[in-house]
Amino acid sequence: MNKKKKHIAILGSTGSIGTQSLEVVDAHPERFVVEVLTANNNSKLLIEQSKKYKPNVVVVTNESKYKEVNNALFDLGIKVFSGENSLEEVVENENIDVVLTALVGYSGLKPTIRAIKSGKNIALANKETLVVAGDLITKLCKQYGVSIYPVDSEHSAIFQCLVGEHFNPIEKIYLTASGGPFRRKNREELLHVTKEQALKHPNWEMGSKITIDSASMMNKGLEVIEAKWLFDLKKEQIEIVVHPQSVVHSAVQFTDGSVIAQLGIPDMKLPIQYALGFPERLENNFNRFSFLDYPELTFEKANFDTFKNLSLAYSAMEKGGNIPCILNAANEVVVDAFLKDKISFLSMSDVIENCMEKITFVKNPKLEDYINTDRETRILANELL
Ligand code: NDP
Ligand code: MG
Repeated sequence: MNKKKKHIAILGSTGSIGTQSLEVVDAHPERFVVEVLTANNNSKLLIEQSKKYKPNVVVVTNESKYKEVNNALFDLGIKVFSGENSLEEVVENENIDVVLTALVGYSGLKPTIRAIKSGKNIALANKETLVVAGDLITKLCKQYGVSIYPVDSEHSAIFQCLVGEHFNPIEKIYLTASGGPFRRKNREELLHVTKEQALKHPNWEMGSKITIDSASMMNKGLEVIEAKWLFDLKKEQIEIVVHPQSVVHSAVQFTDGSVIAQLGIPDMKLPIQYALGFPERLENNFNRFSFLDYPELTFEKANFDTFKNLSLAYSAMEKGGNIPCILNAANEVVVDAFLKDKISFLSMSDVIENCMEKITFVKNPKLEDYINTDRETRILANELL
């Protein structure tokens, strides 16, 4: 059967998710066309990718890299732009069907809003956007008739478990967590851990920000908030379960007590492909899961005593308003500082908590409030380092 090709914009194509999404494109050249590629600094890889995939438009946000990228791509007829505003403008292009947001952190917020307002469906890897402004984003999606297809493996799992269950309410979800490199550690043992130790994730190869978030369990905290907005859930309906093998990607429990889970090897290409190909499951030759390779699948309680970030995230979600935005901005500052050896591992949560207490609460934030909150929190968090 001859199917229409999907034209995709990949924001953050040089990152971990970005490069894996291009592998998904490689597996299905008859189904996907790359319209837009973007990067922040990595001009070399962006140029290499552009020569291979020949997108219509390329954005390098760091303006000092513009000349180099434009010189390399001009003869190929590829339009090159730079600066943050360009990132927002390119998603509006009428050729684009799906925007894959693989930017890291708060930088994804404005381009995602612009994409939604232009009616583009979103394949969402950039969970921070939903954490910062989930209320605004979900309202805009309804208003513009836009769907969000989750790329985050846990949320993709839940999304897959819900296919065909539209009229059946969710009792609760089980959000699985690998536990990261510091699973089963107590606070005493984490007093002096280094970034090198924190960057060694047992199961996933990811960008540095999310790898630190996984070590501090903030990643799971952000995912709890992400799940609330994606699946319209209350605090009591979201349970974290530590599952070190990362094979059960998450599960949904329905009101009859039945639990449906999604399984697979830990490989982000699978959720990326599901988000881009939805509603179809596309054939591929990615590695296959075998139960016999995993004779023991184990499950543990999440450790809220060691990982204060978990309580902070649940509390931010419960309080709502601009508090999750504060949590996110403070977290971005402390993670960056931790990667530069400017703060200890455990102190990261203290700074975040402090910011959540001190920044002015806004109950029903608008976009400007989120922008102000993000800016104010970054200033305060930097002072608190
Ligand atoms: P990476 O750090 O590997 O990649 C980030 C990408 O965004 C790069 O292309 C980078 O460009 C670009 N970028 C970074 N900062 C900016 C900025 N300020 N403005 C414009 N572009 C920017 O991150 P990941 O791929 O690991 O993560 C991307 C998102 O996906 C995150 O939100 C993460 O939480 C989420 N996610 C990631 C998973 C993973 O397995 N990696 C799993 C689930 C979710 P450059 O290369 O030039 O710096
Ligand atoms: Mg995840």
